Parts: sequence; structure tokens; C-alpha cells
Amino acid sequence: MSTAYDLVVVGAGPAGSTAALVAARSGLTVALLERGDHPGSKNMFGGVLHTHSLNEIIPRFYEEAPLERAITRRVINLVTDEASLALDFGHRKLARPPYNAFSIIRSRFDRWLAGKAQEAGALLLTRTVAQELIRGRSGAYEGVVLQDGTEIHAPVTICADGVNSLLAKKAGLRPPLRTDQLALGVKQTLALPPDVIEDRCGLQAGEGVDMIYIGSFTRGVGGGAFVYTNSRTLSVGVTLNLADLSRSRLRPEQVLELFLEEPRIAELVEGAAPREYSAHLIPEGGAHMVPTLAHHGVMLAGDSAGFVLNSGLNLEGANLAITSGRLAAETAVQAYLDGDLSAQSLGRYRTALEQSHVLADLHTFKGAHSFLANNRIYTTYPQTVASFIEEVITVGGTPKRRLHAIALDHLGKVGWRDALRDLVASRRYI
Ligand SMILES: Cc1cc2nc3c(=O)[nH]c(=O)nc-3n(C[C@H](O)[C@H](O)[C@H](O)COP(=O)(O)OP(=O)(O)OC[C@H]3O[C@@H](n4cnc5c(N)ncnc54)[C@H](O)[C@@H]3O)c2cc1C
Repeated sequence: MSTAYDLVVVGAGPAGSTAALVAARSGLTVALLERGDHPGSKNMFGGVLHTHSLNEIIPRFYEEAPLERAITRRVINLVTDEASLALDFGHRKLARPPYNAFSIIRSRFDRWLAGKAQEAGALLLTRTVAQELIRGRSGAYEGVVLQDGTEIHAPVTICADGVNSLLAKKAGLRPPLRTDQLALGVKQTLALPPDVIEDRCGLQAGEGVDMIYIGSFTRGVGGGAFVYTNSRTLSVGVTLNLADLSRSRLRPEQVLELFLEEPRIAELVEGAAPREYSAHLIPEGGAHMVPTLAHHGVMLAGDSAGFVLNSGLNLEGANLAITSGRLAAETAVQAYLDGDLSAQSLGRYRTALEQSHVLADLHTFKGAHSFLANNRIYTTYPQTVASFIEEVITVGGTPKRRLHAIALDHLGKVGWRDALRDLVASRRYI
């Protein structure tokens, strides 16, 4: 059996549903394929959606989308075995339109976004796995073959099938990912009454906080932890560099347990009912792992192209997926308008990405990946900062030292050569 469309989009995550929505709105016939029972049923993330990318496509989407809480505070925590330091930032502006970010639950949000693509005219086929790309005699890709052998023909295919993109790998558009380019995210969703969440996190009704943690609980494995507030649940998880993790012989759930045992986290989740446990890979190689983005008849968007920005302080993927899905669809629409579906024409997608925040930000933070591979960030420096503050605030009846003397002393304990090397590396990264 075989059917034909102007565009086939594989994967109804943020990248794929956006691409399908934008292309269908412009009048292309679009098939949107999703292997899950419904969009979002197989998806997880931290997670916070930064609003800017979707707001461009669906203005004021936050008035209708299934969102959890507007994120009005950001807390960055350094943790050692015995101490913790929090930098807590809040701004009233973050509680007002157009907002900066919302916590979302993917099974609800992805379903809603795919519904917007359907409303625009895209055909959504769930429980449908694209097995491989069809390659025509000319070498151009011409659609996909499904698990049951059905062929879906289209002059343009957008692969938005996530970090494991089978299609990109099979088509040779992307080399196999190395473990040091991947992080593993493990997350537990824990239910608590909304007023308890607000009380424990110091929030106004309906508002949310995004808390990230770096420190000793990862036992030197590159990565960190997060707590996000949803309406009636907390998302608590760790993200760990896969290469480091396998060297450490720690299991990811062990690291999550260590994090949950941190006294302040234990207080936060006390009495919460476990709802869900999930794990997912994150492509974290940044600009260094961007593959061939367009070929004759095919483009890659979202995680399948490795579009995740981990700057250490921000983890952005969903917004990059949405912008890249939009740009891939706009490139396809323009190619149809020009009557030119050649590789060169679809190649304009890369230029559009370079002019957008997607490749611009990945390029700006191209040093982040190697900087964050330094395990002193997770062990030595949190300890150094904690000891510095401990000495500053402890009143013991003995003569005090000036701040710079304390700082020099503690940095000296790190080792001057390492401290200087890290300072130089951080300048390249920051
Ligand atoms: C633990 C964790 C925390 C994160 N936190 C954040 C955060 O706070 N903020 C943020 O912006 N990003 C975060 N991310 C990253 C973010 O989740 C991704 O960057 C984003 O989901 C990418 O969207 P996508 O549409 O490209 O891919 P996905 O969301 O992975 O969607 C791919 C879709 O394709 C479908 N699919 C796959 N293969 C096939 C096939 N062969 N046929 C048909 N369908 C197929 C899948 O079922 C899925 O629905 C986090 C990720 C993890 C793992």
C-alpha cells in the first residue's frame, strides 16, 4: 500500500508537531507519524518550556495550552556532603505575559500541540513507526516505509524522531553518537497537594520554581539534578553524562536516590506519592555534534539533529526543537513556492538555523561541553565555595581574616595550576 503527501513528518514531539502545524497552515498536505499511542505518551523531560519559540507560532498560546505553572523563580544550588548554598532569583515580570517559561507535562502538552497541527489540516497517524527513508533512483529521499511495509511518499520528509533518530542513522545523515555526547536523564514524578508544593517552595498560588543542583551527590559524575514544580506534582531528576556514568559504575537510579536523600530534598518531597519513573537520553554535544541537516528530500529537526543547549545553568531543548521544526517547515513551504525541491533549496534550512537562536546559541556555547566535563566543577569547587562561606559566616571568637585572604587560601587548596587552567577555560566558555 502507498499514499502520497507534500510533506511527511516523523515524530509528534515539539519539533515534529510544530513542523506539521506550520506546513499545514501554509497549505501543504502533511502526514505526521507518531509511534506512541498518542503524542507525548512516550516522551519525558525535566521540564520547563521556554515560551518564546511557540509564542511566535501560536501567539499567547499560554492562554489555551495545558501548562502547569509559570516559572517565576530560579534557584541554583551548590551542594556538598555537609553544606549547601542557594542563589535564589525571582522577578515579578516572570509572572506576567509573555512569561519566560512554564513547567509542562509532556503527555498533555505534546497531545495538545499535535492537535493544533491536526486543526491546521495535518493528518496524525499514531502507533505508526517509520522504519526507513525511501531513496529514489536519483538519490533523493522520497518518503518513508512503515513497520508494516506501507510506503508514505513525499518529496520532503522532516525527521523529528528524537535523539535516537533511526532514520537519520540509517540514511547516514548522522554518525552514531558517542557516550560522551549524551546525558542520561532519570526522573521521578512525585504527587503532593498544590498548597503543600507552594508552602514548601515559597510560591504564590499557581506560580512555579525551577531548581537546579550541582555537587557531591553525583560522586564526580558530570551532571546535576533538578526539581521542577508542576501543579500537583514535583519532577525530581538527575542528568548524568553517559561516558562518566559508565566509568563510575554507578547506576543512574543510585544517583537519584543519593539526591533524594539530601536533607533539603528529603524535606521537600516528604510524604509525596510516587507517580512515575522515567529515563531518556539527551544529546549534549552542542555545536560539535550537529550533523548534515538537509539532503535532497530530507531535513532533521529537534533532538534528531542534536539541538540541545546545556550551558550548565540552562537546559534548553524543547524551544530549540520548536524553532527548528518551524524553520524546517518554512524551508519546505518556500521550496514548494519556488518549485525547487533540490538539496540546495532545502539547504537554506541551515542558513535559517544559523540566523536563529538555535545554531547561534549552540555556537556561542560550543565550549560548554568540554568545560562541563571537568569533574572539579562537581566536587572541588562546591566544596571550596562552601568552605569559604563557612569561614566568612562563622563567629568563633578568634581573629578574623580579610575576604581576599580567605579566598586565596581556599583557591590555593584547589591547586593554583588547576584553578588557573579552569579560569582560562571558563573565559572561553562564558
Ligand atoms: C531528563 C530530561 C530533562 C529535560 N529538561 C528539559 C527542559 O527543562 N527544558 C527543555 O527545553 N528541554 C529539556 N529536555 C530536552 C527536551 O526534552 C528535548 O530537547 C525535546 O523533547 C526534543 O523534542 P523533539 O521533538 O526533537 O524530540 P522528542 O521530544 O524526543 O520527540 C520525538 C518523537 O518522535 C517519536 N518517534 C521516534 N521515532 C519514531 C519513528 N521511527 N516513527 C514514528 N515516531 C517516532 C517519539 O515517540 C516522540 O514522540 C530534557 C530532556 C530530558 C531527557
